[in-house]
Amino acid sequence: MILDAFLPASCAGCNQPGEVLCRRCRFSLASLSAQVGDGGVPAALPFSGVARQVVLGLKYRNRRSVARHLARLMVRRVPVGQVHLVTWAPTSAGRARQRGFDQAELLARSIARELGVPCRRLLFRTHGTAQTGHSRAERLRGPSFRARSSRDGLRVLLVDDVVTTGATLAAAKDALLAAGVGEVVCIAAAATPDHAMVGRQSVRPAQRRTVATAGAGSSSTTTASMPTPSAAVTLEGTSSKNAVRPGSAPNLARAS
Ligand SMILES: [Zn+2]
Repeated sequence: MILDAFLPASCAGCNQPGEVLCRRCRFSLASLSAQVGDGGVPAALPFSGVARQVVLGLKYRNRRSVARHLARLMVRRVPVGQVHLVTWAPTSAGRARQRGFDQAELLARSIARELGVPCRRLLFRTHGTAQTGHSRAERLRGPSFRARSSRDGLRVLLVDDVVTTGATLAAAKDALLAAGVGEVVCIAAAATPDHAMVGRQSVRPAQRRTVATAGAGSSSTTTASMPTPSAAVTLEGTSSKNAVRPGSAPNLARAS
């Protein structure tokens, strides 16, 4: 992390030397619509163009500052309601070791700061189930998780960087609910609308499960019945009883 300070800064969106996110790229991101990924997971950005570069930049360059920018976009554009705790869907231990950090964790910690609530690791990837011999549908269901047992009734915000098939978040959410979490609200930095449509056809079981649980009290109830999953949906204007986040209101005034 200290290394970040010594690396020459360049824009995570266009690679131009200077700020970690140049003015032009910041405007570009602001002009993009929020997305609904597979499984009804709301995401701040489409995983394409400059947004894709910025999200990938989180993985490979300027990570802490990029995480802060993305976290602000996420909490401003996606109404998450009042949550007690923020957690994340951990990447595989091997990958995290390789990079030296977990990008979903960086996002979760930045979001928790924005919302003024604690961030805790609740999820762990489980090993042991070999992928070979499993059907394609089983493999598409993605990784499995176990969760730390939790105080009943907590409303937890579950963070991931990119929604692809929605299987990772669905599995993570199931583990949290099984461990006693009262409600899980999912949020991602980016989602691929085209991929989401493919996912809807090929990963039905996982998708249905996510929509069913997401509908319980979160704003994704409306998104689950969307007729065209590829359509970019602006969640900013969504009027929702969950849209007011008193805990985070003062943060919104902060300059970026
Ligand atoms: Zn730029």
